[in-house]
Amino acid sequence: MASLDSKLVGVLGDRTAKVLKDVFGYSTIGDLLHHYPRRYLVRGELSDIAELHEGDEITILAEIFSASSRRLQGRKGNILEVIVTDGSAKMSLTFFNQAWREKELKVGKQGLFAGKVGVFNGKRQLAHPDYELIADGNDVDSAVESFAGKYLPMYPASAKLPSWKVSQCIELAIGALDEVPDYLPDSIREKYGYPTLHQALVQLHNPIDLDTAEKSRERLTFDEAFLLQLLLLTRRIELKNLHAVARPAITGGLLDALDAQLPFELTAGQRLVAEEIDNDLAQPHPMHRLLQGEVGSGKTVVALRAMLTVIDNGGQAALLAPTEVLAAQHLRTIEKLLGSLGHGGMLGSNEKSTQVTLITGSQSAAARKEALALAASGEAGIVIGTHALLSESVAFKDLGLIVVDEQHRFGVEQRDALKTKANNPPHLLVMTATPIPRTVAMTVFGDLDISTLRELPLGRQPITTHVIPASEKPGFLERAWERIKEEVGQGHQAYIVAPRISAGTSEDADIDFLMGETTHEIASVDELGPLLSGGALKGLKVAPLHGRQSAELKESTMRAFANKEVDVLVSTTVIEVGVDVPNATVMVIMDADRFGVSQLHQLRGRVGRGTSPGLCLLVTHADPETSSRERLDAVAATLDGFELSRIDLEQRREGDVLGSSQSGTRSHLRLLRVLRDESMIERAREDASTLLESGLEGFPLLAAELAQLQADATAEFIDKA
Ligand code: ADP
Ligand code: MG
Repeated sequence: MASLDSKLVGVLGDRTAKVLKDVFGYSTIGDLLHHYPRRYLVRGELSDIAELHEGDEITILAEIFSASSRRLQGRKGNILEVIVTDGSAKMSLTFFNQAWREKELKVGKQGLFAGKVGVFNGKRQLAHPDYELIADGNDVDSAVESFAGKYLPMYPASAKLPSWKVSQCIELAIGALDEVPDYLPDSIREKYGYPTLHQALVQLHNPIDLDTAEKSRERLTFDEAFLLQLLLLTRRIELKNLHAVARPAITGGLLDALDAQLPFELTAGQRLVAEEIDNDLAQPHPMHRLLQGEVGSGKTVVALRAMLTVIDNGGQAALLAPTEVLAAQHLRTIEKLLGSLGHGGMLGSNEKSTQVTLITGSQSAAARKEALALAASGEAGIVIGTHALLSESVAFKDLGLIVVDEQHRFGVEQRDALKTKANNPPHLLVMTATPIPRTVAMTVFGDLDISTLRELPLGRQPITTHVIPASEKPGFLERAWERIKEEVGQGHQAYIVAPRISAGTSEDADIDFLMGETTHEIASVDELGPLLSGGALKGLKVAPLHGRQSAELKESTMRAFANKEVDVLVSTTVIEVGVDVPNATVMVIMDADRFGVSQLHQLRGRVGRGTSPGLCLLVTHADPETSSRERLDAVAATLDGFELSRIDLEQRREGDVLGSSQSGTRSHLRLLRVLRDESMIERAREDASTLLESGLEGFPLLAAELAQLQADATAEFIDKA
């Protein structure tokens, strides 16, 4: 008898085992039994043929209505045409030179037929379909062999391995299988009324009824959630057990000096999060915290306070930003907030002070040398930088805190690369402006504690958003340019965002053509800038900004914009994250349907940051009542980042929802859907947490299963690196 670890060869023989290996990469019975059916066909309930569309890859259950072969005219060979029916509609199956099949394809027989729906002479047909005939109810011998049950599982399949072949392999594997030991603690299984692991596996593949199948699926889905949460919580406990230097808040230091000079009151939310962070930093174990907060919710000052706490304790902080524009802006913002507190080492500087330095890939050799020296000597309490911070030449005297801005742009690997520059495990604060639903955060950032800033600082201005259908209402676009002129007339500034840097390649036009779209040129920075400054925005100072410009040019353009020397910035999404120019009040986003929902929300967060309300205009050529337009309407309808991120996530594939953070465990997530299974993930998290409080000693099977998952995750992680 066999276990889940037994090789498939032993049960299925060399040839079949090889096909399963080649097609799906399976080598054990366990691998195969985790190949779950997508749905079930019910024996005797024929598929609805009228519903099939040309091009669909289908498997249908149908009855043979007629079968006849004839010679081909003027050519050699014959054609067998079999008509199948679901009782109302009919469809033809054709076979060339396989007249012998007429013997088995008998009128009245039912069978599964698989192939791609084609159209010939206006009629739908399957050419050379794979098929498997269903044994008659009284045909005992063959009935035991295949499709013994009432519910016929439909598997993800390939041309080499149609669903029923998979089904036959699984039947054989189950037949050979010993009772599978269950790793899930009985108490948990009984609490939810789940079947045992053995029952669940057998019943999912061969259910007696659909309820049983559903319960089995639920159990196996729960297992995925539960094991993943166990893994993440275990990692968290391991991190918590590492030794770090405690950096408790100190009175009379830089932190107090900053608080005394802040030009605003911290919001209640900021104070609460600050307390959580203070508390973490005071522990002799590394902080591992995610700070998520709406665009403009004031994360930077919260992070700065944490940095100063560490500096008050003699340590240094590194701030990792995704782009040079952002890094430079962080430098400006932090220098401004610190004022004389950031002028350490200078003549007449505040006695309680530190230095802030910047390390980027594009800075001059001299500037870099100076920055490296400041970081290494510890004179710079705050070191801000892009990926360049990760380079080997960068060293710290005593790196105590890492702040990562906009986490979704960085992988765990980069986070870890920076950690190696610290003498002891450093504290970590990860910031993201893309708020994500709790369960997604739990799954994607499951090893982090989570703080959330929900409220925006008082006096933050509302942003109004409108969709401008440029094809239907060209007048609206004219009006948009007018609005920009009005705002600039009142001393404000504007952003115009385009999806592209330069005019489209012919390739894109071809694709548009093939998709049957009315070809319209997607807006680009290179074209839009001159077009507007010579036309609709004549007289205004318009400057382009995009990723292909040199770092100096980008930096000087941003600086000019911040200093109001530029009225209108025409840019790509380089301004998407974090850019903070409170005087900007309008944003026009060209071809807005080319951007994702969260991205649009991020973009518009650039306006309404000052004392005047913000206006965001989403220009689109997408047709009304298309999903593109619906997405834009959704963005226009709400300012709630959580709601929008959910809409965004729902439209993505599961792998994209999880991002790179769970790459190591993703292959174990076959049934779990982070958004759909929210409440199950919550329950699994609680169960895992309760169990870990008393340890896994009493649960050796579970511990082994977890170790396996851990090993796989590590292996995949190493493969990737
Ligand atoms: P984000 O969370 O998007 O990074 P920032 O940290 O850039 O937001 O803050 C946005 C703006 O709000 C900045 O100009 C910042 O100085 C300001 N700000 C932060 N906290 C407050 C507050 N409590 N009251 C008023 N303004 C604040
Ligand atoms: Mg920010």
